[in-house]
Amino acid sequence: MSDHGEGPAIGIDLGTTYSCVAVWQNERVEIIVNDQGMRTTPSYVAFTHIERLVGDAAKNQAARNPVNSIFDAKRLIGRRFSDPLIQSDINLWPFKIIEGPGDKPMIIVDYKGEEKHFSAEEISSMVLRMMREIAEAYLGTTVKNAVVTVPAYFNDSQRKATSSIGKRNVLIFDLGGGTTDVSLITIEKGVFEVKAVAGDTHLGGEDFDNRMVKHFVNIFKRQHKVDISVNSKALRRLRTACEKAKIILSSAMETTIEVDYLYKGIDFSSTITRAKFAELNMDLFRKCIHIVEKCLTDAKMDKSCVHDVVVTGGSSRIPKVQQLLRDLFNGKELCKSINPDEAVAYGAAVQAAILTGMGNEKLQDIMLLDVTPLSLGVEVCGSEMSIVIPRNTAIPTKKEENYYNMSDNQTSMLFSVYEGERTRTCDNNFLGQFRLSGIPPAPRGVTKAKVCFDIDTNGILNVSAKEMTTGVTSKITITNDKARLSSEEIDRMVQDAEIYKAEDDEHRKKVEAKVTLENYAYDMRNTINDKKIGAKLGLVRKKKINDAVEQVIQWLDGLQLVDSEEYEDKLETLESICNPIIHRICGQNQKL
Ligand code: AMP
Repeated sequence: MSDHGEGPAIGIDLGTTYSCVAVWQNERVEIIVNDQGMRTTPSYVAFTHIERLVGDAAKNQAARNPVNSIFDAKRLIGRRFSDPLIQSDINLWPFKIIEGPGDKPMIIVDYKGEEKHFSAEEISSMVLRMMREIAEAYLGTTVKNAVVTVPAYFNDSQRKATSSIGKRNVLIFDLGGGTTDVSLITIEKGVFEVKAVAGDTHLGGEDFDNRMVKHFVNIFKRQHKVDISVNSKALRRLRTACEKAKIILSSAMETTIEVDYLYKGIDFSSTITRAKFAELNMDLFRKCIHIVEKCLTDAKMDKSCVHDVVVTGGSSRIPKVQQLLRDLFNGKELCKSINPDEAVAYGAAVQAAILTGMGNEKLQDIMLLDVTPLSLGVEVCGSEMSIVIPRNTAIPTKKEENYYNMSDNQTSMLFSVYEGERTRTCDNNFLGQFRLSGIPPAPRGVTKAKVCFDIDTNGILNVSAKEMTTGVTSKITITNDKARLSSEEIDRMVQDAEIYKAEDDEHRKKVEAKVTLENYAYDMRNTINDKKIGAKLGLVRKKKINDAVEQVIQWLDGLQLVDSEEYEDKLETLESICNPIIHRICGQNQKL
């Protein structure tokens, strides 16, 4: 949201291939048509020697001007140039991408006879601006507020139907041109609660087209001994024919692609069956199903508890994909009544209206609950992530956690707030920090601060800390926009956490072993310094414990992280010295 001021709020679904815009008006959502009378607009930007074109005008001239007609920009957002996925896409795109500063991919075009460089964000914002202009032309007023892309939601009649039959768990499978998004939501009395979201920003219809393009490039090579993949114009025409063939194969069992003068005057014609198309893409289709399984796991829901499976997005019309989904849900019929091209923009418009307070009574019966896309927590032990609110928690939410001082006589505590799934804070996203000052000096592990994470309905995070004996407090507010990650970055972080899971688990084990040893040593030091216990111990036994404890503390202080076994060995030795003495004077049952 840019502004909560006056004027209608629109919802824009910025799609990889097509975008759609909707508005909440006359007590319902209206999908806005563009100047061509179309309800979706191609996410294309083209540059010519006289002008810049966006949408249909850009797509219509793409075959004539392939190197300066940019599509798929959304796939580049948030990715590095060196990313293997980008490297493999570059071979298929007719336009040129180079490595910009900081490994950022930059798109190169010839605009009015000059070479121009654009980032994917700049291209996407041209598409967004176009969508806003379409809305402004339709509404006859300026639009200041826009919500861009949220997961798919339902239309009014479905909402009424579902709200009258109690609680329903609904899985929404959105397979578009470039992305896969899966959300699991629960609807009860008109309240939508997002239980979990999962997705892949790089898996969709265009990947299926590419497989078919490769297949026909190979056939052409076999037939004519020439490689057309070096010719961007030929590739572009072949890709257009492949996309058409793919769509036909959703209703026919076989089709023929025909491209006249494809390369060096050679006409190309070849047939492809639905089964062959499925075979070419089977691994990708299975990947989509894994995303569904991941969403269920994240939501801790068994697939038998899902009442409805709603499919949306153009590519969800592929019969094999539908069959795999049905098989996963033990033969359940899929709901296909949402117009795939519009469902997402619809959801965005509803949310836009709610956020700007334009919602009337009708809107108030549907409350959209969102989830935290990443875990939120604070840094402990100088570099470790301690999670307070786990990923996929429904917002608004409030959670508290106690933290203790890390060194003796500390008079302030610094809290650094992070989001992310990795065990080390350096791998997560830093959101901000604040200091709790004026706390009374005390030995390590004695001062307790209660830290509270509170996220409101707008996603604004308030983190506060309170020292429990004096009551001093301090806090920080982290808004939704500042330093927060884009959905692509979030997806990448979640994926990274999976890739590095073994490494992170190993690290976590070491830290836990270290903290256990450290806590034991400091607890023991505090115990022997306690007046009552100290008096009972006597000097000799006190010295024996003190020497052993100080030796361990010194060893810990001068050390990088070592294997967990080393900490465990040290703990065992220390316990074997201290426990018999302490147990004897405190009684067996006293917890240290
Ligand atoms: P979306 O991003 O939801 O608009 O989806 C666009 C993608 O869906 C493009 O890759 C289209 O080629 C693909 N698509 C549209 N209709 C069909 C269909 N009937 N069968 C297979 N793919 C389709």
